[in-house]
Amino acid sequence: HARRIEGIDKNIWVEFTQLAADYKAVNLGQGFPDFSPPSFVQEAFCKALNGGFPMHQYTRAFGHPNLVKILAKFFSRIVGREIDPMEDILVSVGAYQALFCTFQALIDEGDEVIIVEPFFDCYQPMVMMAGGTAVYVPLKPVCCGPVLSSADWVLSPEELASKFSPRTKAIVINTPNNPLGKVYQREELQMIADLCIKHDVICISDEVYEWLTYDGTKHVKIASLPGMWERTVTIGSAGKTFSATGWKVGWAMGSGHILKHLKTVHQNSVYHCATAAQEAVAVSFQREYDVFGTEESYFHQLPIHLHEKRLRLADCLKSVGLKPILPQGGYFMIGLATIPVSAFYSPEHRNEFQKYIRFCFVKEDTTLQAAEDILRQWS
Ligand code: PMP
Ligand code: GLN
Repeated sequence: HARRIEGIDKNIWVEFTQLAADYKAVNLGQGFPDFSPPSFVQEAFCKALNGGFPMHQYTRAFGHPNLVKILAKFFSRIVGREIDPMEDILVSVGAYQALFCTFQALIDEGDEVIIVEPFFDCYQPMVMMAGGTAVYVPLKPVCCGPVLSSADWVLSPEELASKFSPRTKAIVINTPNNPLGKVYQREELQMIADLCIKHDVICISDEVYEWLTYDGTKHVKIASLPGMWERTVTIGSAGKTFSATGWKVGWAMGSGHILKHLKTVHQNSVYHCATAAQEAVAVSFQREYDVFGTEESYFHQLPIHLHEKRLRLADCLKSVGLKPILPQGGYFMIGLATIPVSAFYSPEHRNEFQKYIRFCFVKEDTTLQAAEDILRQWS
């Protein structure tokens, strides 16, 4: 086998999905909803499938025209600048492939990539497969009030600054973070942005959980800070956005002078993502564009729905003697034993975090109830 796949044959999701199936476990391990997407999203898919032959054939390599146009329109409003649908967006097979294209396109042998811990596990193997070296910097808890929150976990500006070297090519951040649920505040993003600009480094910002924030926490895009659009690749996922993780539609967004390199990787490997799925995501985004900011919006409703589940899981964990860390965003809470959080750390720092366990709460109440029953028996 090739050297680039040395040591990365084990994968936590492959392993735990199999274990959960073998033991018919109540699965709060893997991050996917065990409920259906909203009906307008399902209807969009059915309509796309019945939309005649073009829906079943190849479409534009870098994104189905209807999808890139609505993504550009939607996110221009969020980022506060004109996004070019044809230049600034690449539609991919899930956020996974957008990340893969980003690392393959931008990282060379010998380049360093700063990764903030805890991190979504695929960043490290992807950096390695591109020939780069991962350099880790941890989020650390700074205080312990009566309620533990992901907001208490912060980067030390000095420690982060010390990780930048002449070899640093990129930094990867994930907000809201998987598994902690941290949502970076504007000042924290500004601190990261200042370092990126000072050292001429690219920021890869994984924002697949961007609509899922709780208790009034606001998600801020680092690409919207001054001087950052030109050096940021923002990663998104329709799977997370519309609770349809099996569709595998994602995207990378950023300045055309960077995105063109991602497109080179994409056109020579995957070419494009399923046409009908892209059309369905386009129609769903158009619907969200039309109702944005109203109570009808799924981006408004889903976090409200998940907020209840999050409190419910936190109460359950507390009642069995665990200390949950309330997430400001995302699908997950750390505090107890489904997916060990050590998988989200580098081998060097893993031991410090052995005591944390991650739970996923984007599950039916019946699933949460079943988990609760098991935890109560166990405690
Ligand atoms: N980034 C993060 C932080 C994730 O949690 C996931 C998995 N849900 C992905 C990227 C990959 O997303 P997708 O399913 O769209 O490939
Ligand atoms: N991102 C999801 C999680 O963190 C699932 C990833 C996967 O199944 N590959 O649980």
